[in-house]
Amino acid sequence: AQDRRESLFIVTNWAGKFFMETLWDTEDGRTIGLNYFRERGYRDDIIKKFELGYSPEAWTALYDRAKAEGHKDEFLEATGLIIRKDDGGSVYDRFRGRVLFPIHNLTGRILGFGGRTLKTDKKTPKYVNSPESEVYHKSDVLYGLYFAKKPILDADNCYLVEGYADVLSMHQAGVENVVSSSGTSLTHGQIRLISRYTKNVTILYDGDEAGIKASLRGTDMLLEEGLNVKVLLFPDGNDPDSYVQKFGSTAFKAYVAEHQQDFIFYKTHILLRDAGNDPIKRAEVIHDVVASIALIPDEIKVSVFIRECSGLLDIQERALITELNKIRLARH
Ligand code: ATP
Ligand code: MN
Ligand code: MN
Ligand code: MN
Repeated sequence: AQDRRESLFIVTNWAGKFFMETLWDTEDGRTIGLNYFRERGYRDDIIKKFELGYSPEAWTALYDRAKAEGHKDEFLEATGLIIRKDDGGSVYDRFRGRVLFPIHNLTGRILGFGGRTLKTDKKTPKYVNSPESEVYHKSDVLYGLYFAKKPILDADNCYLVEGYADVLSMHQAGVENVVSSSGTSLTHGQIRLISRYTKNVTILYDGDEAGIKASLRGTDMLLEEGLNVKVLLFPDGNDPDSYVQKFGSTAFKAYVAEHQQDFIFYKTHILLRDAGNDPIKRAEVIHDVVASIALIPDEIKVSVFIRECSGLLDIQERALITELNKIRLARH
């Protein structure tokens, strides 16, 4: 089994080199892929550091090269680099005409890829990702963590973003303690990974509908694991990548410093704003906020939040504590 895993690693890392060579050393790679990255504002040193690549348009470019270099169908298929048609016979490359973001493990080996289309039509999926495999378990991987380990320790904080592009642009702006869950909601495995390095997480959500929705969900597990959670939304449909690229790194850092908020306070504000003066809705807000506070394992932090929220919600601490105990009883 160990040998087989090693064989899969060899193939994914070989593919990483193939995509990188295609990006830098072929005509299409340079005029299409490299040009795309540069147009998005990425510097060459960042493109190289993250080992970004490009996959040729042809249906079997990677497959043909792999065969010529002696790689086995079995391993190419098990890592999802090639896809076998339903008829069982013919195969084709998963990534074609896409720019590629290799996904590294904690020691810097490539486990899989995220591939972005350059097309702007609505029917082509924007991202195609490597499937689950014996070496790539999506739920235990955070994009960018290999490059962010030391910066997270140094800052004692981890920024969590939605996409690959956000990680790259933030690195380029000098904010290197950043990882991405690549568009999926966080898992326990990913949270445990982060908590090896820090207990402080700041989630930077896209300022689009999906981001706003996600900003109120998806934090329960972080709170349960005892992490301190701050959140912030970017304005006018921006994400961290577009904000850095438009306004520069100084403005980005200032925006983050000014707008990050403790999650519990953020949630209280947003829910209260939506509830207006409706007493029933305000009662629901109180329940929702206390339900989040009840997830926090540290009793001292719980007391601090109860006190602060009693002010924000304009209700006695005792009433919140009664609610807290009710919620806890119901959960056990
Ligand atoms: P870009 O800046 O390149 O347009 P993004 O990262 O801002 O991309 P979002 O739409 O904000 O893209 O999505 C966030 C993340 O969700 C992506 O980086 C990617 O990991 C994942 N994702 C987006 N669309 C898809 C898709 N069609 N299939 C699978 N994953 C996707
Ligand atoms: Mn988005
Ligand atoms: Mn983006
Ligand atoms: Mn985005």
